[in-house]
Amino acid sequence: MSDKPPDPFETIVNNESYTLIRAAPGVHQFRFKSRGANAYLVQGSRRTILIDVGLVSTFPQLQHGMNYLGCSKADIDLVVLSHEHLDHIGAAHLFAGKTMIAAHRLAANKIALRDDFATLRKMFNEPNVPFDVDLWLEEGNVIDLGDFQLRVMHTPGHTSACISLFDQDKGLLFAADTLMPGGVMGGIFGSGSISDYIESLHRLAGLNAKILASGHGRLSATPIHDAHIAIERSRALLSDTGQLFDALDARENFEPIMQSVRDLNKLDD
Ligand SMILES: [Zn+2]
Ligand SMILES: [Zn+2]
Repeated sequence: MSDKPPDPFETIVNNESYTLIRAAPGVHQFRFKSRGANAYLVQGSRRTILIDVGLVSTFPQLQHGMNYLGCSKADIDLVVLSHEHLDHIGAAHLFAGKTMIAAHRLAANKIALRDDFATLRKMFNEPNVPFDVDLWLEEGNVIDLGDFQLRVMHTPGHTSACISLFDQDKGLLFAADTLMPGGVMGGIFGSGSISDYIESLHRLAGLNAKILASGHGRLSATPIHDAHIAIERSRALLSDTGQLFDALDARENFEPIMQSVRDLNKLDD
């Protein structure tokens, strides 16, 4: 017999393309079996929101699950994007119009400028439809759904624009690619920083979170434990990158970048 505690999260739908899992009353996780990141439907007493929306290619599954929960696209008051990566925001333009779209101001800026490098557009074979972010979020904003109060935390590291959402009363933490079950690291992308990542993990570890809802992988009932593993791993990564930097001849490796900056500046002479 296994010592593993029973899975506290109920699976509602499980087919060949996605799984729909109940994280808490009114909170459901969509886990797509392709490249789309997890999406979350939060049905509050006054407002209904989605946190991340996956890709256009996973939108039929998102809609299928929403219908299953008695919710249509028109019922979504707000789409909150955790950061600018396309696997999280790909289907957002399908909500543009009536539904408000929110993201941290640093993600909103990258999306508004169509920064395909920052959004990792080339990694995904998706239609390129521009959309705008209606609400530019900051640390400390609160999204009030009636019986959910989601506090916006700016948790940079994976990218500069990552946010986490935390409901203190329910101990419910949406941490996207910053904190994942088992302390899996989200990687450091273009605008990100391992030092920022470590600080963000420390902040999340200090919350009284009971349920972790991440951008990839399963739900977790041990967020604080997960955060401590992630902190250990991120510190190891910090010392690895230090050694890596020493191993390269840093000056020589940065020369092409320095040269292109010099070339750019010459244009103004
Ligand atoms: Zn990401
Ligand atoms: Zn992701």
